Amino acid sequence: MVSKDLPFTKEDILKIMEKYPTPFHIYDEKAIRENARRMKSAFKDVPGFKEFFAVKALPNPFILKILKEEGFGADCSSLPELILAEKAGMTGDDIMFSSNDTPAEEFVKAKELGGFINLDDISHIPYLEKYAGLPEIVCFRYNPGPLKEGNAIIGKPEEAKYGFTREQMFEGYRILRDKGVKRFGMHTMVASNELNPDYFVETARILFELIVEISKELGIHFEFVNLGGGIGIPYRPEQEPVSLEAVAKGVKEAYDATITANGLAPLKVYLECGRVITGPYGYLISQVRHLKSTYKDYVGLDSCMANLMRPGMYGAYHHITVLGKEKKAPTHKYDVTGSLCENNDKFAIDRMLPEIEIGDILAIHDTGAHGHAMGFNYNGKLRSAELLLREDRSVVQIRRAETIEDYFATLDFEQLKSFR
Ligand SMILES: *Cc1c(COP(=O)(O)O)cnc(C)c1O
Repeated sequence: MVSKDLPFTKEDILKIMEKYPTPFHIYDEKAIRENARRMKSAFKDVPGFKEFFAVKALPNPFILKILKEEGFGADCSSLPELILAEKAGMTGDDIMFSSNDTPAEEFVKAKELGGFINLDDISHIPYLEKYAGLPEIVCFRYNPGPLKEGNAIIGKPEEAKYGFTREQMFEGYRILRDKGVKRFGMHTMVASNELNPDYFVETARILFELIVEISKELGIHFEFVNLGGGIGIPYRPEQEPVSLEAVAKGVKEAYDATITANGLAPLKVYLECGRVITGPYGYLISQVRHLKSTYKDYVGLDSCMANLMRPGMYGAYHHITVLGKEKKAPTHKYDVTGSLCENNDKFAIDRMLPEIEIGDILAIHDTGAHGHAMGFNYNGKLRSAELLLREDRSVVQIRRAETIEDYFATLDFEQLKSFR
C-alpha cells in the first residue's frame, strides 16, 4: 500500500487558482529533493553511482536545475533536450545522450557539450565519425533480444527498435578499438514502469557479464555501465514502490561477482530514470465543468488528454482525489473525461469516487513524469501551465499556459487574405 495523501489542501489550491486558473500541473519541490537524496543514499555503495534524469519525463529547466543541485545529470534524446540541459547548467559529464534514429546535428551538439554519446546502432559509428567526429568515450546501447523479457510499455526486446544485437556489440567495440578509441561505456534499457526490483538486478548482471566477455576478447576497458531507466512507480494505492535499496544491493552483489572478480573494477554504474524521480510528485489540478448522465455517469473536466495522455494511450491508472472530499466514501461510479473529440479522452473509467458536484476540484495523481511532457495540440487543445510548490510553500509558475496566439504562431493569416 502506498499513501495517496496530497501535499496541499483544497484551501491551498483555491488560493493558487486566484492567480493561476485550472487546469495546471503542480510539482512538489520538497518531495522531489527528498526523493533524489533517497536514491543517492540507496546507491551509496554502488561504485561511481550517478543518475542522469531522463529529460523527456519532465522537460522543464527549473526541475533540471533542482536535480542538478541534487547531483544528478541529464539523459537527453533530442536537440531541444540537450539545449534544456545546457540552460539548466548541465554540460560535460552531466550529459548522457541516448537517442535513436539520430540526426547529425544532435550528435554535433552532444559532442560540443562534452556529453557521453550512446549509440543506438552499429551504422551510427561511421555516421558519427563523419558528422561530429568520434568522441573520446563511446557507449553502445545493447538489445539482448530473446535473452531478456520485456514489458508492456517498451515491448519484447527482440521486437523493439532499439540497440545493437549481441554480435554487433563485439563487432562495434572492435571497430572503435581499431580506430584508437580508448574509453568505453555500455547501456541498455529494456523495461519501463517495471515494479519488480529483480528485473533491474538481472539487467545489471546481463550487462556486467557482457562487459567481462567483451573486455577479455577485445582487451579494452569499460569506464561505465548505464543500466537505463524504467523503474516503475505505484500508480495504484495497492501497489508498492520499488525498493531502491534492494536494487542497489543486488546490483552491488552482481558487480562484485563479475566486475570485481574479473579485475575490471572500477566501473562506474549509472542510471537514467525519469518516472521514479519526479512521477509521484506531480499533480494535474482540474475543475469539474459539467456532469452528464446517459448510459453512464460522466464527470467533464476543464482539462483533457492533451494535459495527460497516459490513460488514453496505455489505459494507465491515475489515482484521483476530490479536494475537500478526501474523507468521503467513494459511493458513485464515474467516467472522468476531458473535452477532446476522442472517446479515449478519459482520465478514469468506472472509477468509484465520492459524489461529485460542478465546480469540484480534482487532483489527478502521479503526473510528474510523462504527464505535461506528452501533451499535444490535437483538436486545438492548449497545454496547461506548470507550477512549482516550493519548500517554503510559495508557488512559482515554471511554464505558462499556452495561448491561442501560441497555437496560431505557425500560421500566416496575412498570406491567407491574398490566397485564392
Ligand atoms: C524513456 C527513457 C528513459 C526513462 O524512462 P523512465 O521509465 O521514465 O525511467 C531512459 N532512457 C531512455 C533511453 C528512454 O527512452
